Amino acid sequence: MYDVIISGGGPTGMMLASELRLHDVSVLVLERDSEPNPAVRSLGLHPRSIEILDQRGLLDRFLAAGTRYPGAGGQFAGIVPTRPVTLASTHDYILGIPQPVTDRILTERAAELGAEIRRGADVTEIEQDADGVHVRLADGTEADARWLVGCDGGRSLVRRQLGIGFPGDAAATEWILGEVQATMPTEELTAIVAEVRQTHRSFGIGPAGDGLFRGVVPAATVAEDRTVPPTLDEFRTQLRAFAGTDFGVHSPRSLTRFTDATRLADRYRVGRVFLAGDAAHVHPPLGGQGLNLGIQDAFNLGWKLAAAIAGWAPPGLLDSYFTERHPVAEDVLTLTRAQSELLSVEPGPRAVRRLLTELVELDGVAEFLAEKIASTGIRYNLGDGPRLLGRRMPDLPVAGGRLYDLLHDGRGLLLDGTGALSVAGWSDRVDRVAAADAELDAPAALLRPDGYVAWLGDDQADLDIHMQLWFGPPD
Ligand SMILES: Cc1cc2nc3c(=O)[nH]c(=O)nc-3n(C[C@H](O)[C@H](O)[C@H](O)COP(=O)(O)OP(=O)(O)OC[C@H]3O[C@@H](n4cnc5c(N)ncnc54)[C@H](O)[C@@H]3O)c2cc1C
Repeated sequence: MYDVIISGGGPTGMMLASELRLHDVSVLVLERDSEPNPAVRSLGLHPRSIEILDQRGLLDRFLAAGTRYPGAGGQFAGIVPTRPVTLASTHDYILGIPQPVTDRILTERAAELGAEIRRGADVTEIEQDADGVHVRLADGTEADARWLVGCDGGRSLVRRQLGIGFPGDAAATEWILGEVQATMPTEELTAIVAEVRQTHRSFGIGPAGDGLFRGVVPAATVAEDRTVPPTLDEFRTQLRAFAGTDFGVHSPRSLTRFTDATRLADRYRVGRVFLAGDAAHVHPPLGGQGLNLGIQDAFNLGWKLAAAIAGWAPPGLLDSYFTERHPVAEDVLTLTRAQSELLSVEPGPRAVRRLLTELVELDGVAEFLAEKIASTGIRYNLGDGPRLLGRRMPDLPVAGGRLYDLLHDGRGLLLDGTGALSVAGWSDRVDRVAAADAELDAPAALLRPDGYVAWLGDDQADLDIHMQLWFGPPD
């Protein structure tokens, strides 16, 4: 019996597997595809995800494989010009990195940390009782775990089997995404695309490196069976329908479909089973949020589930996964819906776009939008308190180094500017380090393993109460 089975080995599942392995939780990842998905869906990572990779000592691998694009802001919805904005983050840039590379690095990391990963493992049924979860696979094999997390994407079988509601908007438009070669000279292709985009902003095709072109074109209809991949002929037909030419596309590396369906699970947990990533929320890819959101879900859930397995999770800790992450996803859905509207060439959205273009000039508006996309402005509702309470702590200098280097093992951390506070009773779960209180806005701060501030103050008795709230009873 495993501690945790993760159904789905995409970025969310692999991030979660690594987070659990930091705490010695036994993990089995079941991934349906026998080979990694070659489709380049996500093109990059936003500042909060980059911070997370830094907090786990993973960032160097990503930086070596990606390209930094400095500064947040620039454009909203790819169309409303905004001022460049400086975010309060040591990682104030977007990291351009194709999803297959992100997926590969996260998979390698999960395997290095000891997660068992089975490919070609199609989960067909789950059944739970008070003690655990039983999983059946398409090949007739079975597996058991104390907990299961469905990281199995937008069409999640786990979500459907749990009977979790997935309210929202059904797909109205479907797009075909293709990575192909093209015979038309790039200059000619670029000129035609610019012309088409005057009236169809969701159309595009352009060079994507390695001699390939990445193209996105609306499909003729929303496919009934979205598991059937589009054909090259279908892609060519749609290119011709919008641009009058198919640009001579041939030799696809990948062809996939995606839609503008926007839905959010109304629960993230039933008994011993959780949902994370696209299994819990889907939305159009505008703003490049989905993978980032999934990684951050995993980062929130991992330490909490590990705490339950180790036996020290305080009451309500597991349920805080839903109360913290559901509003964040709701916010992202609102943001992507708004961006989708702004792309329309209809008079109403055009007027809103003009108005927004003026609004972003006002103090704080461009910062507000940039923080939303970067996810650095998230504040979990941990009650009233100083500005940093419930927010992620930015990186800062601490005794002998910098904060994010001290978070690699996924433990709690007391940043003590008083020199007099103690974590005695919790030292198996929480470390203590001296820090300058000027950086903290308080004499001392207690960080959860995901780097969010759980307490600020200077009083040992008050600290002990909050230790117990987040890290369970003392030894
Ligand atoms: C065109 C496009 C562009 C995008 N651009 C961005 C971007 O720039 N930035 C961004 O953050 N996001 C972007 N996204 C979204 C991003 O790709 C997804 O949000 C992300 O892949 C979600 O990760 P996940 O691990 O939750 O789900 P998935 O990546 O869908 O992984 C789920 C995994 O579960 C497996 N699985 C499914 N069912 C089963 C089963 N029954 N048994 C076992 N395994 C199963 C699947 O094979 C898959 O590997 C984009 C998406 C699209 C379509």
